[in-house]
Amino acid sequence: MKTILNYIDGEFLPSHSNAFLENINPSTGYVYGEIPRSNTSDIDFAIDKAEIAFKTWSNTTLETRSKTLMRIADLIDENLDQLAMAESNDNGKPLHLAKSVDIPRASANFRFFAHALTQFYSESHESQGKNTINYTLRKALGLVGCISPWNLPLYLLTWKIAPALAAGNTVIAKPSEVTPMTAFLLCKICEKAGLPNGVLNMIHGLGPEAGQAIVEHPKIKAISFTGGTKTGENIARTAAPMFKKLSLELGGKNPNIIFADCDYEKMMRTTLKSSFANQGQICLCGSRIFVEDKLYEKFKTDFVNRVKALKIGHPIEDNTDLGAIVSEPHLKKIKSYIDKAKKDPKMKVLCGGDLAKVKKFPNGYYLNPCVIEVQDNQCQLNQEEIFGPVVSMMSFKTEEEVLKMANDSVYGLSSTLWTQNLNRSMRMSQALETGIVWVNTWLNRDLRTPFGGTKQSGVGREGGFEALRFFTEPKNVCIEYS
Ligand code: NAD
Repeated sequence: MKTILNYIDGEFLPSHSNAFLENINPSTGYVYGEIPRSNTSDIDFAIDKAEIAFKTWSNTTLETRSKTLMRIADLIDENLDQLAMAESNDNGKPLHLAKSVDIPRASANFRFFAHALTQFYSESHESQGKNTINYTLRKALGLVGCISPWNLPLYLLTWKIAPALAAGNTVIAKPSEVTPMTAFLLCKICEKAGLPNGVLNMIHGLGPEAGQAIVEHPKIKAISFTGGTKTGENIARTAAPMFKKLSLELGGKNPNIIFADCDYEKMMRTTLKSSFANQGQICLCGSRIFVEDKLYEKFKTDFVNRVKALKIGHPIEDNTDLGAIVSEPHLKKIKSYIDKAKKDPKMKVLCGGDLAKVKKFPNGYYLNPCVIEVQDNQCQLNQEEIFGPVVSMMSFKTEEEVLKMANDSVYGLSSTLWTQNLNRSMRMSQALETGIVWVNTWLNRDLRTPFGGTKQSGVGREGGFEALRFFTEPKNVCIEYS
């Protein structure tokens, strides 16, 4: 049994109640560890410590902060193998994916903000003819809460923690209770890197208990949250009357729009990834595929053949394309959508959707990737986020028609567009109601760019200076001289 502990004021501690939750490895289906079931009293304790730490950390020089974050980034790289294995055990993702994407991105997050904080600047405004100069001070907010989901555990947690610390705040963080291990290991790294006690505090536990206590606490000045839209709504309802700053990165139902003039092979390779990477459990996955009618039948045949050839296996195997679904309840949720589709005469399951058997791991949560042909965009399958290895596909005739369907969603996180026509890509990029538009690529990220969604995919933007602005409070100072 691997026991995970909270990290508060530089100490590894159980929860005050001494209660624990089970930690399950989805690739085996067995409990392999336990995590503290924290509640309000653990949060109160951490907040007292973070408050003390803030006085010093917010006054350290930029160089000191930058060097500390850089040391954390280096130590993440040095511990790549251990972290990748831990991520794979907790989440069920292929080990090669954790090694090549999740963990390198976690160190990149720290390294990026270690640099960014030394380049961050504030404005001054000279009021000409009035002998007045205004300048903007940007101060750390104080104590901030960072709450993250299970799909990219360390990647998304560090995407919040790194800018929060860079800006001089102290942090109360809560990783997902489903995938807590790399957050625990990160605390060991922070300790080794010399991050002062109380600057980062990691509290484990359930969302409605530990998470809710963070959101409700009056001393927490801002919440940076990534997770489901329903949870985001609840957080907004709690935090808004307290006038906390909020950054909400929520669900998506992203269109993948394929025109007949695309670079076919590149589109096909990328569409396999954008549909099924991380078992389709990436908020940016293109789960609604729209294909121009001229290309539809060819695409359908080729795509289904390529999906059938994907290897579902234990995450540790090098040739595994899809590992395990993160948890049993999530597997059941995904399966319920597929089972409904099977009974719907307007839908056709083209492949997959049944439980996959992986040798030696009969209790693991494995599902064959599923492609479902639908007739209209209004169906439940196209309107609700499933967040698993399930994509729908349908054809379209015109640019106007597909644009209307792409935008006909309560979500607006990202969209992908495949065409060689420059004018069309410019027109559609303007008109697509999503926070990110990828043209002839997918998941291509420059950390300086604003990241976030529109509509029910969230409010606010992460990334680059946007994140440093979020984690600071601007104050205008106006001076008149004679
Ligand atoms: P979730 O909303 O269930 O949980 C996310 C986090 O919030 C967890 O740490 C959970 O413990 C915590 N939480 C739950 N209830 C809470 C409450 N009442 N108060 C405070 N915290 C609470 O989401 P999940 O199932 O872990 O993640 C999947 C979802 O995340 C999907 O909808 C996916 O689209 C979304 N997501 C969005 C992005 C993005 O950038 N927009 C990225 C990744 C995942």
